[in-house]
Amino acid sequence: MAKPVIFSGIQPTGNLHIGNYLGAVKNWVELQNSGQYDCYFFIADYHSLTGQDSADERRTKIQTLAAELVALGIDPESTTFFVQSHVAEHTELAWIFNSITPIAELQRMTQFKDKSVQQEKNINAGLLTYPILQAADVLLYRPALIPVGKDQEQHLELTNDIVRLFNKRYGEYFQMIKPIFTELPRVMSLLEPSKKMSKSLGAGHVIELCEEPTQIETKLKKAVTATEGGGQAPGAANLLLLLKQFGSAEAYNTFAKSEKDGTIRYGDLKQELTRSIGDYFRDFRARRAELLANPKQLHGILETGARKAQKVAAATMQTVRQLVGIR
Ligand code: AMP
Repeated sequence: MAKPVIFSGIQPTGNLHIGNYLGAVKNWVELQNSGQYDCYFFIADYHSLTGQDSADERRTKIQTLAAELVALGIDPESTTFFVQSHVAEHTELAWIFNSITPIAELQRMTQFKDKSVQQEKNINAGLLTYPILQAADVLLYRPALIPVGKDQEQHLELTNDIVRLFNKRYGEYFQMIKPIFTELPRVMSLLEPSKKMSKSLGAGHVIELCEEPTQIETKLKKAVTATEGGGQAPGAANLLLLLKQFGSAEAYNTFAKSEKDGTIRYGDLKQELTRSIGDYFRDFRARRAELLANPKQLHGILETGARKAQKVAAATMQTVRQLVGIR
């Protein structure tokens, strides 16, 4: 029997940080390695066009993300790993969905409202229709399960609305999708631990996976720990969460206990964490550098992935074209 299809993507926004890793990619690698699923993971470069990057920046970010995902364990053999724009069917299906989706549904998306504020000088149509492309991404591969964060819930509901609209108008073809909202750690900013770790806050707020221990040390030294008024400060909680993820159980238990009884020395915790994160990603850094130094190999990986994805996408589009009457 065919394994259930799992589908997920990530935008090329530059070097991955530990929030992206713990909140998304680590889970992908675990799902892949469980052997229970037919996994599709992709780099959402069409989506990144709605943002502000130049062409050169975008090209570099796509290459880097591809190298980083492979270095983190995405296996191009067992997984279909590809770049969205290498499979033109994504935009073709998006256009067909564009023509059945009510604008009012798009205008109420909270991400559209947020992004319109974030880039008020560039409120392009792509920001509005982005969830339609997302619906096309997903539905081309007819997956059963979509591992996503809660922030994508509204978009996935829209995807199911599009399924209903399409099927009603052109005949039952697409199936409803089921998001899986795995409880994944939410990593907070080092400097403003009330906010989610994000590069948009500034370089000092994040730890990138490719950073050397000396860079990690410098950043952690500046990380906020205690706050006025006592109680467990969010900064301290965040560092302990990271130690739990990247350090030994023994180290975590020791620091968690000393934090509770108030004897913790944050300097020691930061040193332990620097060592743990540095060690955890040592092999990753080497593998990443190797892949980036060998663009031909990376190109080959992505080409193979695009071919595999395209086979499935082309079959879906053949049916869709007939259903809507353009073939
Ligand atoms: P973004 O580029 O911000 O959309 O992030 C890509 C993926 O990483 C998404 O699946 C996010 O849920 C996840 N992610 C981003 N930042 C964090 C964070 N600080 N903690 C946990 N997960 C995160």
